Amino acid sequence: MVASQLRIPSILRTTVRTCQTGVIRPPRWAARPRFVVRPGPAQEEVMAQTGSLTVTGTGVVSGIAYAPVRRVQPRPQLPTGGTIDEGEQQAEIDHFAEAIVAVQNNLLERAEHATGNAAQVLRATAELTADRGLSRSVRKLIKQNETAEWAVVQAVDNLVTQFERLGGLYAERTTDLKDIRDRVVAELRGEPTPGVPEPTEPIVLVAEDLAPADTAGLDPELTVALVTEAGGKTSHTAIIARQLGIPCIVGTGKAIRRIKNDTTVLVDGAAGTVVANPDPDKAAAAVAESADYLNRVRSWRGPGRTSDGYGVELLANVGSGEAAAKAAAGQSEGVGLFRTELCFLSAPVEPGIDDQAAIYRSVLEPYAGRGGHTHVVIRTLDAGSDKPLAFANLETEENPALGVRGLRLATDNPDLLAHQLDAIAVARKGLDIDVWVMAPMVATVPEAREFAGACRDRGLWPGVMVEVPAVALNADQVLAEVEFFSIGTNDLTQYTMASDRLSPHLAALNDPWQPAVLRLIQMAAQAGLRANKPVGVCGEAAADPLLACVLAGLGVTSLSMAAPALPAVGVRLGDVTIEQCRQAACGALAAPDAVSAKARAAAILGG
Ligand code: PEP
Ligand code: MG
Repeated sequence: MVASQLRIPSILRTTVRTCQTGVIRPPRWAARPRFVVRPGPAQEEVMAQTGSLTVTGTGVVSGIAYAPVRRVQPRPQLPTGGTIDEGEQQAEIDHFAEAIVAVQNNLLERAEHATGNAAQVLRATAELTADRGLSRSVRKLIKQNETAEWAVVQAVDNLVTQFERLGGLYAERTTDLKDIRDRVVAELRGEPTPGVPEPTEPIVLVAEDLAPADTAGLDPELTVALVTEAGGKTSHTAIIARQLGIPCIVGTGKAIRRIKNDTTVLVDGAAGTVVANPDPDKAAAAVAESADYLNRVRSWRGPGRTSDGYGVELLANVGSGEAAAKAAAGQSEGVGLFRTELCFLSAPVEPGIDDQAAIYRSVLEPYAGRGGHTHVVIRTLDAGSDKPLAFANLETEENPALGVRGLRLATDNPDLLAHQLDAIAVARKGLDIDVWVMAPMVATVPEAREFAGACRDRGLWPGVMVEVPAVALNADQVLAEVEFFSIGTNDLTQYTMASDRLSPHLAALNDPWQPAVLRLIQMAAQAGLRANKPVGVCGEAAADPLLACVLAGLGVTSLSMAAPALPAVGVRLGDVTIEQCRQAACGALAAPDAVSAKARAAAILGG
């Protein structure tokens, strides 16, 4: 019976001032050209290169990878009907039985080569594929003269309906059932296995776009780079790649489709290029050079500070207890952004206070007992826009990025925020750790005041994100209400430049190097210096080593990023003085556009 298989659902879970000018000599290592990030995207640019093909996109995570391409296979078009003659029944039943065995074997074979959670998930899915109840229902339908494909679709749909009625963990398993349906239908048709491939050898994963749920189980040892047709610098594909610590290029447009599956490619995340069938010697040299740099980064030890000892706290962005434990084992000095909504992407109903508290505590524990100023910043649910939650975002909106997201959800649903703050208060009990709590998508002083009040009522240390330009423009007044700012440059850039952060067409506009964005960051940071309150950056800008130096020069006190990005930022900061950072900030602020802002900073800081 399928229900009995579901008593083991946990193994199926794959979740988820004033400026001075002057000539400043760049540090010696800055002459190395490999780490210059190419400004702006060159969409759909394809050129023939001595028998190979180069596709260019926006490089969002630096690094070199050399491996064959594997595309995310589209889901099969599902049939809406289909009949056979009575005489064909047995052949159809046999065909179905063969497909089941093939899908199951494929999953088990992959499980053999996988480790940890990924292996468990694959085994559990194989087990569910072979469920007798499911096969019986399909055979029954075939005996009513329906095609195997159509029978599979109906049998799975019935199960999905039952599971959704049962709710809870059963409802969460419907995704696995639909995945099995798609695999079996593809197998029956002789089509490639759909979805994100589960490789056994290193691959470069290519997709139109990747949702956080698609990539939850990716193993960075096997998926060594990500390339997507869509997305900009701050898209979630980039965030995921940074978490995994693998090179990533977004916004290639359809050009990447010209590189077929299994073609060996050289991905350069800094240059934003994917070269098909590269010269093996050149590829090996690029990989070796990358390895040298990686050694320097790998051997970096914190804390974050410039060469003249000016401290800039380097913190981790996390989305789960597991990520926090990994980040705490590295060089991070605390957590600057815990994206709580990522824990609930597949939750059909609002998790109870105790369940939430257990998750939050798992993020606090790895940093507890360190003393000093160690703190963890928990962000309240930033549900909405590109991260809708089934239990929070109930209405479809025309313009979700400008709609009811983040703190705005609390207007119609105050309990959601109240429960979350209660859960955070429970989570920190008995732990020796400073817990800071911040709200996303704040736009006004009263919003900040009300949120701060709700936090203080529970003994929590309140702050707000600077994502809406209104907050930066009004920084002194908003900061007077709270204890800290955290600048979300991903959204701040999107809203300042009026350019969708997910659009590959707007990637040049959607760039935190835009002087207008830097100006707003400066306004927020300087308000912090006046009020003697910390102002950090937790958007993707913090993970760009050159931009990180500029942010320090603008006055931000901490930089929070995906943990794997942290050592490269630490290395870069350690190569320059704070005065160089300030000079670079002045140069960038005075630039007419993002490209020259970066060029001016690079001229001062090197690189
Ligand atoms: C940001 O907007 O910079 C941010 C950190 O929030 P998110 O990327 O989760 O929207
Ligand atoms: Mg944001």
